[in-house]
Amino acid sequence: MGGDERSLGAHHSLGIGECNPDSRVNGNVAMNVPTNETAHAWRPPRFMVIAAHPDDADFGPAATAAAWIDAGSVGWLVCCTSGDAGGEDPDLDPGELGVLREAEQQRAVSVVGYAGVTFLHQPDGALESDLALRELLVREIRTFRPDAILATDPEVVFYRDGGVNHSDHRAAGMAAVDAVYPAARNPMAFPDPNVWVDVSGTVERKIEALRAHASQIHEPDKLETRIREWAGQTGAKIGAAGAEAFRLVIIEDDEDEGPTGMTATDVAEASDSPEAPGAAVAGDG
Ligand SMILES: [Zn+2]
Repeated sequence: MGGDERSLGAHHSLGIGECNPDSRVNGNVAMNVPTNETAHAWRPPRFMVIAAHPDDADFGPAATAAAWIDAGSVGWLVCCTSGDAGGEDPDLDPGELGVLREAEQQRAVSVVGYAGVTFLHQPDGALESDLALRELLVREIRTFRPDAILATDPEVVFYRDGGVNHSDHRAAGMAAVDAVYPAARNPMAFPDPNVWVDVSGTVERKIEALRAHASQIHEPDKLETRIREWAGQTGAKIGAAGAEAFRLVIIEDDEDEGPTGMTATDVAEASDSPEAPGAAVAGDG
């Protein structure tokens, strides 16, 4: 890899969110009393979601992605695997399942409104955060030039309310961090979710996107109820009807333009600037 680190852009934030229905880090805010936390106002003009499997992004930050896209951001999804090992029927051909799950993810991509999706076709169930995966992600990042990346928190091994985080999720999250890191000058990480995005208007889209993953979801109505409950519990933290929580890692923040300095209005202006959606393809270095 190597190459021009500047092609990653001036500032990047790595929002590390949930990528699984059981990764209820944000479920810890199970309270109905509004707190002093406020909704995160900064909106990246361009953002990328990096997920291990088809459906991870939709269990994860789909409502945030939809809200940002509705407000003018351009989003891109990267799926490291095609989820070909995610079947319960032992007679099911993994290749066919992968094709089916890519098609499901494509439908969900349309629902959320991403500009597109890249499937990296890495081995489902055996994803490794190695140089090869990092190179693939660096290529995606340099091509799309996101201002923010949303990925699974690689530090979560055990969920606080039980269960083990899938090793693929951890591998994808760690590879995402390592793919961004060469651009880092002064990374600032927070130990816990510290950013809440108001998704009151897009929880329905998240549910619709999840319903696209029909091969994985057997009780969509029950799931819908749970998603609404989680969004509501997380939203209570900021006094919103629904929210998604993230652990924010700020890298090379531009004080005027980055997540700590930019207001929603500033971002709206920036996304109208000729540099934002226009400067899409930077090549590989
Ligand atoms: Zn997954």
